[in-house]
Amino acid sequence: METIQSIRGTKDILPSDVIKWQDLETTARKISACYGYQEIRTPIFEKTEVFSRGVGNNTDIVNKEMYTFDDRSGLSLTLRPEQTASLVRSVIQNNLILENIPTRLFYIGSYFRYERPQKGRLREFHQYGIECINSSYPESDVEVILLAIDFIKQLGITEYKLKLNSIGNTETRDKYKTSLTEYLQQNKNKLSIESQARIDTNPLRVLDSKNNTDMEIITSAPSILDYLDNESNEHFNKVKEMLDSANLNYEITPNLVRGLDYYSHTVFEFQSTYLGAQDAFGGGGRYNNLFSQLGGKDIPSVGFAMGIERLLLILEQIKGNNANQKVDVLLCSTSSDYLKYVTEISSLIRHNCPDMACITDVNRRSLKSLLREANKLNVRYVIIIGDSEVANNTITLKYMQENKEQITIDKNKLIEILLS
Ligand code: AMP
Repeated sequence: METIQSIRGTKDILPSDVIKWQDLETTARKISACYGYQEIRTPIFEKTEVFSRGVGNNTDIVNKEMYTFDDRSGLSLTLRPEQTASLVRSVIQNNLILENIPTRLFYIGSYFRYERPQKGRLREFHQYGIECINSSYPESDVEVILLAIDFIKQLGITEYKLKLNSIGNTETRDKYKTSLTEYLQQNKNKLSIESQARIDTNPLRVLDSKNNTDMEIITSAPSILDYLDNESNEHFNKVKEMLDSANLNYEITPNLVRGLDYYSHTVFEFQSTYLGAQDAFGGGGRYNNLFSQLGGKDIPSVGFAMGIERLLLILEQIKGNNANQKVDVLLCSTSSDYLKYVTEISSLIRHNCPDMACITDVNRRSLKSLLREANKLNVRYVIIIGDSEVANNTITLKYMQENKEQITIDKNKLIEILLS
């Protein structure tokens, strides 16, 4: 019978890679806790309108990339393409907003977009992200960016670019859209078909185009920064001032608008030259209108999302691919008759040394081949149980990493030695 393959654009995370995922997740959890962010987990699918209303009907995500299907009752459901909209749905539904107090949340999960798979672009991918909900002040924008930078640094990534922009408030964007549309109309014939189609539906998205001739036109497009009103300018200046005083480098990028409709004011993106075409490994921004789009009252908020696969691609290039399984003890016996004694000793180790990984032989292999395996796994100790060990209630302990010395000891002494 033919074997079954996984779906294009999805990846198994194999045991040899899982350690790297766990390390990254541990760093994410630690840094989140350190800044006072608590974890939230929402369902993987939602009513489609969470995303059509939240992310925006004219975005690529909603138009082209969502996994949407009717369930058996005819209800339209969608696999979450990102977290913020469903998180906001949950915050409203569960009344997680407190008067004048921020709600700080983080998440780690998988997301689904029907995109053309390539290096660093999958149809199921994973993100770590945070949201600082219920503060309109630039302090919260800066908190979120600082957390992101601390996270990146703690992972060991030092070379990256932080791109920063402000897309102002709704009035700013309305005025800017009018000028941008006019400019794009004048240059319509030179634009790609895709960008031409966006002029009327979502002109800001033309600025995201990676098409070479589009990019030439975009370079001379009006800059949104010239359209910021006083309130928007003041907000942006404060963000820049605080980043400056923290000695952080950033690059003002007027064409950075990001793909989702819900952003306002500060937007930012992290880029790495290690990634090739898909060079953004994280991004975020302020969203002041998303709550009202999802039926709540306006709650100003700001957050970011980092792509875990892309972070791991960067780390692989910086640190190499050398995560190994950690095994401390390999327990072998010279005969299957000693199974009871082997189980007694392995339980003794597992219950008293919970930080040690202890494996036993379950294939009844020869001592010679087990020792070969122990070397391959870089095991610290091999424990050998043979006739005399069982008869005398002892075990033989072989030090595999130091002098390869071998000692026979009373079984009651074992834990003391392993923990020393
Ligand atoms: P976005 O929500 O599009 O701003 O995405 C935030 C981050 O998620 C990006 O910077 C990427 O690192 C990651 N990401 C987005 N889409 C994909 C994808 N299709 N495959 C892998 N990573 C992705």
